[in-house]
Amino acid sequence: MQCPYCEAYGSKVIDSRSSEGGCSIRRRRECLKCGGRFTSYERVEKTGRLMVIKKDGSRVPFASQKILIGIQAACGKRPIPEERKLQIVREVEETVYRLHEREVQSMEIGQLVAGLLRTTDQIAFVRYASEYQSFDSIEDVEETIKELKDMPPPVEGQNELFPSE
Ligand SMILES: [Zn+2]
Repeated sequence: MQCPYCEAYGSKVIDSRSSEGGCSIRRRRECLKCGGRFTSYERVEKTGRLMVIKKDGSRVPFASQKILIGIQAACGKRPIPEERKLQIVREVEETVYRLHEREVQSMEIGQLVAGLLRTTDQIAFVRYASEYQSFDSIEDVEETIKELKDMPPPVEGQNELFPSE
């Protein structure tokens, strides 16, 4: 931590407290060279693992592997490259860690995955959504399928990556 007055690097912490709901630590520091005092904000490293709050209110550690298993189950034998499945996991992981420090609702993870599957493979999407978003009724399912039918066809180039059966 560089001193703003003399630009020396050595300093000692004289006080610290967490701020932003525990996402960062504010430290009062004193420069060892000039004695100048300044404040630093340091982001808390992800020491505590991100927890997922399930529908029943229980909490489990966030695990990318579980997301992948869910995607694989939904994809079944659909012609979706493994690389695309892993890419979805990475995107979901990044979004979750960007938006949440401590906990995330399992529902939100499900929606993120579903959103990405939707543009990847519609069958896999419907399977995933029925498993994880738990449609309230068959009308919900029909409504979703209707929306999919109304969607514009995949953009040029995607067809090569994800050929239809
Ligand atoms: Zn200094």
